[in-house]
Amino acid sequence: MQGKIALEEHFAIPDTLMDSAGFLGDAVWPELSARLLDIHGRRVAEMDRHGVETMILSLNAPAVQAIPDVAKANDIARRANDFLAEQVAKNPRRFQAFAALPLQDPDLAARELERCVKQMGFRGALANGFSEAGAAGNCLYYDLKQYWPFWAEVEKLDVPFYLHPRNPIAAWAQIYEGHNWLLGPTWAFGQETAVHALRMMGSGLFDAHPDLKIVVGHMGEGLPYSMWRIDNRNAWTGAKPNYPAKRPIADYFHKNFWLTTSGNFRTQTLIDAMLEIGADHILFSADWPFENIDHASNWFDAAPISEADRLKIGRTNSMRLFKLGNE
Ligand code: MN
Repeated sequence: MQGKIALEEHFAIPDTLMDSAGFLGDAVWPELSARLLDIHGRRVAEMDRHGVETMILSLNAPAVQAIPDVAKANDIARRANDFLAEQVAKNPRRFQAFAALPLQDPDLAARELERCVKQMGFRGALANGFSEAGAAGNCLYYDLKQYWPFWAEVEKLDVPFYLHPRNPIAAWAQIYEGHNWLLGPTWAFGQETAVHALRMMGSGLFDAHPDLKIVVGHMGEGLPYSMWRIDNRNAWTGAKPNYPAKRPIADYFHKNFWLTTSGNFRTQTLIDAMLEIGADHILFSADWPFENIDHASNWFDAAPISEADRLKIGRTNSMRLFKLGNE
């Protein structure tokens, strides 16, 4: 399919490059680091070859979220965002931008998002899971009440927020001890991000701010598969759900969430996501440079779905959600 839009596509600046080391083994680091630092060369050639018209770019992980010093987190976020704005300006048809945000301080994050959206035309924000603030291991999740003014600003700016994975901190990762292979994209990323998203849904955040649009990658980090059970376990007891939100969790998932295909190129999983959340809330993505654009595209272009759904997921849902092509 030509004209695809992809939106979990990462780059690095020298300050954040080493955050991506160690995930995929030393043998591929020269290749991965070159992919992360490139924007206008190999990346565009890959996009051309596989029908990707536009990438919405975001900083690598965990980057800003793992810098406990708030001033330093803000400085790195601003530098990355300024750099990204310059790159987008060189080729705006092929590249658009998500802001990195110093969510250690919700007020600073709101101001940086406003700067990026209003002054530089960014399409939204991408955060790498919880933020560590003040000291490493002081983990802040975005359902906490101190973030609600930030969410009010996101809603007012009317831009989507991509909740991207990171690993749990070591102190909270005992279940993986001796099984490091489960960390990262194998399992821990999805688990961490799904719980974060569920905390937001159960907190009542979407009752207070019903127009928030949250994007999660990797075909929903397992959430579509588990959604029915989350709301219907032990239904015979008739017990009311024990969380502050007013409605069933699935209501918020269906209305306030969008999923991308990043790093999860599997038809069975796509069909399940389509049956749970609907084709209108699924967006094509690759997860370059950690996954290959050809792997994402060759699978998606041939997946046994209707051409109408392929067009929505591959392009038009993203055009509408990120207001692309409106200017
Ligand atoms: Mn990613």
